[in-house]
Amino acid sequence: MRMVDIIEKKAAGEALTTEEIHFVVEGYVAGRIPDYQMSALLMAIVLRDMDEREAADLTLAMMRSGDTVDLSDLPGVKVDKHSSGGVGDTTTLVVAPLVAACGGTVAKMSGRGLAFSGGTIDKLESIPGVNIAQPIERFKQIVRKTGVCVIGQTGNLVPADKKMYALRDVTGTVMSVPLIASSIMSKKLAAGADAIVLDVKVGSGAFMKTVDEAKRLATLMVKMGKLLKREVVAVVTDMNQPLGLSVGNALEAREAVQLLSGMVPEGDALYEVCMLLGTQMLRLSNLAQTDEEARKKLKTAIDSGAGLQKLRAMIHELGGDETLLTPDGMDSLCKVKQLVPVPAEHGGYVRGMQAELIGRAAQVLGAGRATKADVIDPAVGLVMHKRVGDPVKQGEAICTLYVNEDKALSDAVETMRQAVEIGEKPEQVAPMVYGVVR
Ligand code: URA
Ligand code: CA
Repeated sequence: MRMVDIIEKKAAGEALTTEEIHFVVEGYVAGRIPDYQMSALLMAIVLRDMDEREAADLTLAMMRSGDTVDLSDLPGVKVDKHSSGGVGDTTTLVVAPLVAACGGTVAKMSGRGLAFSGGTIDKLESIPGVNIAQPIERFKQIVRKTGVCVIGQTGNLVPADKKMYALRDVTGTVMSVPLIASSIMSKKLAAGADAIVLDVKVGSGAFMKTVDEAKRLATLMVKMGKLLKREVVAVVTDMNQPLGLSVGNALEAREAVQLLSGMVPEGDALYEVCMLLGTQMLRLSNLAQTDEEARKKLKTAIDSGAGLQKLRAMIHELGGDETLLTPDGMDSLCKVKQLVPVPAEHGGYVRGMQAELIGRAAQVLGAGRATKADVIDPAVGLVMHKRVGDPVKQGEAICTLYVNEDKALSDAVETMRQAVEIGEKPEQVAPMVYGVVR
């Protein structure tokens, strides 16, 4: 087999065989296929697409490029969740312990934030003492003991994705539904769960900018799950504004603790998306027969404090100081030199937001990395006071910045002004949920 023939075949719009796809992935990871040939093939895939069978083959070949985690010796249905990335999306810190409090088994590997979008691992590390680098045996021990554990990805999980993603990032080949689907699904499958709930984001702060594109990605991943014998449900949710009010690591962890303490009302976007994800996870775990029954169980786990107890237990097992997981304790992790409100330049209604820019403002303040080597300041970021559709008076704060470094301040203020559009008339507000794909 020759790589150049495979590139030409895909460039002509033909489907690649299973053997060809395995040849490519194995050869690329082993260094036999150079970056320039892989780039050409990736661009051909962006332009010519792949069918479901090809995407499933690519996923399997990528999954097999490194270690896979075997969770089969843990009891019950092991359920995982994944979000395609966003701003102010703190759902994992809420939903993983809530599902465990309802009897579920949640064994999850999460990532770090990059550029404007946050990552669960950075949020966990904002709690002093937490060690997210646990050996697999210890990870399983924690799941057995508490029903829930979230750790960082182990070193050799899907090396094909690490190498391919880095190449896609610099060759304009990120935006392809089958490439994104295989990147996400290979990692999820390698992490060993029986059932997976996917949250595909759509909007200004997401990869997918249109609902149609997001639904196509969701449908492809659900079909791939079937082909590969896992239960997969995907929801398509809005990312045209931050999901929660907080953007920043300790700030988002604080909002999760507030939600688990009953301080966030029903109807709030973060609350509702957590309920939606938790409902799907409980149903895939056979712990609820209907959506209503699942929601009731999740709500009870908030009201009784059982969900917060699960989060505390998990943080304790990861070496963190679980006594900080109270609303006051979390406030102490969000202490900064300056709190700076950003006033509205004129009155009216919030017509729209660019979630990506809001993520960037938090990143500029030190909440995110521009390069992998950057160090995060866990306390900084911002808290929104307005959502799309809200009325606003001139001079009223649209958000408060949490600042430790003066030099980033004017940039962050300017970015927030650009990110939030205020107009005279209210705009129709986008729905929080666009659909569920089973
Ligand atoms: N998230 C991933 O893990 N991979 C992609 O390709 C896009 C988003
Ligand atoms: Ca949030």
